[in-house]
Amino acid sequence: MWFTSLFQLQRRSVIALSATAIALIAGVVVFSARLSQGQALASRANDPAPMLDVSTHNPLVRVNLTPEPQKQLELAIDGPYRVVAPGTNRILAHGERLAESAIKTTNNSIRIGNADLRINQVEIVPVNSPSIWVGDNLFRGTIRIARAPGEKLIAINHVPLEDYLASVVNSEMPASFADSAREAQAIIARTYVLAKMTGHPQFDVYASTRSQKYKGYQYRDAAGKRLAGESTKSREHVRATAGIVCTYQGKLFTTYYSAVCGGSTVRGDSVFEDSVPLLQSVTCDWCKEARLYRWQSALPKQKVEQVVKDHLKSKGQTFGSLVSITPVTKPDGGLPYYAVSDGRSRQEIAGTTFRVSLPAGTLQSPHFTAKIVGTEVQFSGRGHGHTVGLCQWGADGLGKAGRTSPQILNYYYPGVTLVRLKDNSVR
Ligand SMILES: [Zn+2]
Repeated sequence: MWFTSLFQLQRRSVIALSATAIALIAGVVVFSARLSQGQALASRANDPAPMLDVSTHNPLVRVNLTPEPQKQLELAIDGPYRVVAPGTNRILAHGERLAESAIKTTNNSIRIGNADLRINQVEIVPVNSPSIWVGDNLFRGTIRIARAPGEKLIAINHVPLEDYLASVVNSEMPASFADSAREAQAIIARTYVLAKMTGHPQFDVYASTRSQKYKGYQYRDAAGKRLAGESTKSREHVRATAGIVCTYQGKLFTTYYSAVCGGSTVRGDSVFEDSVPLLQSVTCDWCKEARLYRWQSALPKQKVEQVVKDHLKSKGQTFGSLVSITPVTKPDGGLPYYAVSDGRSRQEIAGTTFRVSLPAGTLQSPHFTAKIVGTEVQFSGRGHGHTVGLCQWGADGLGKAGRTSPQILNYYYPGVTLVRLKDNSVR
C-alpha cells in the first residue's frame, strides 16, 4: 500500500479457510506481544485444537491480477506448459513456450496461441515455475484465466502463501526499511490474506493497494528493465516469521495498514465495517522521514465547489457558492469530517469522501486543512493512505530505533496477540 496510496492449481481441496478456523488451529502459541498475556496464552495452548492437514498451512492464495475484467490479456510463457481444465487433469493444449501473445475471448471460447478452447476457464500450468508473464509481471504458481461478462477476461494467480508473502513484503516496503519493520509487514500481510480467505468463488485478494501490493517474482519497468518482485532478504523476512499471525480474542482480524499516518492513526471502526476494537487511534511521530508526512496541494475553487455540490445533490441537498471548508473537531480518534458552508447552510462531509471525489493526487490522506484564496482552494495535509492500523514509515522508524517486530505490532495494534499456526510448512 505504501507506494501508490501513500493496503490453486485447483481450488484448495482441503479448505475454505475461515478466520475462525485459523484461530482454532492456532493451537500452539509461540509468543505474545504483551508479556502479561503469557498466562492466558499458556492455558489456551492446552485447549484441544482440531488437527488440520499440514498442506493448509501453506495454502494456495488466489490473487486477482485484473482489478477490472479486460478485453484481452498479454501473456508469455518462458518454458514448457500445459493448459488444463481447472479441477481436472484434462490437457486442453500444451507447448514448449509461448511468445508474447494477446489472449482473447469470444462468447464461447478462450483463445491462447493457436488454440481456440471452448471453455469458460482454463488453468495454465508451467513445467518450471516461475515462467508465466502476465503483462509486465512474472509469476510463480499457475495462472487461471476465466471469461467474464461482456467478452472480457480475468486472470487469477494461484500461488503458495509463503511465496506470495515474499513478494508482498518487497512490493509494500523498500529494501532499505528496517528488518524488524519488514518482518512486521510479513506478519500483517500473512494475517490479512488469511483473514480474506472467506470463500469467494474466484479469488481471495487483489494484487494492488485495494488489498496488498503484489508484483510477483519479477517485473519489468517502463524501460523494460527486469526488477526483483521478491528477494533473498524478503524470503528471509517471511521465513523468520513463518506461520506467525496477529489475533484478537483468538481470531484473525483484518490487519489494516497504510503508508504514512502523519502524526496519529485513525480509529478503524470509523472507516472499515470489519474493524476490530484494537484498531485504535495511536499517536506516531515515527514517520517523520516520509516525504508525505506533510504535503500541500491546490485546486481551482470551482472544481472543489462542483464536487461538494455533486456529493450533496446525491444526498438530496442543495449547495451554493463555496465559502469555507472547516475541520470538525471530534476528539475520538475517528475519521476526520469537514464542515462546508455556502454562507447560508453548513453540511458535514467525511475526509475520505473528499479524498476519493477530488482528482487523484489532490489529497494524500483524509487529514487536511483547506484555505480559500481567491479562485483557488489550498490544501495542507498530513500522511498518505487511509491511516488505519500500522503506519509503514512509522514501523521503519521504530525498527531503526531498535524495536522488534512484536513491539512494532503492539504499538499499532495495542494488545494484539501473536500466534504461530501449528505445523506451518515453509520451503
Ligand atoms: Zn506514523
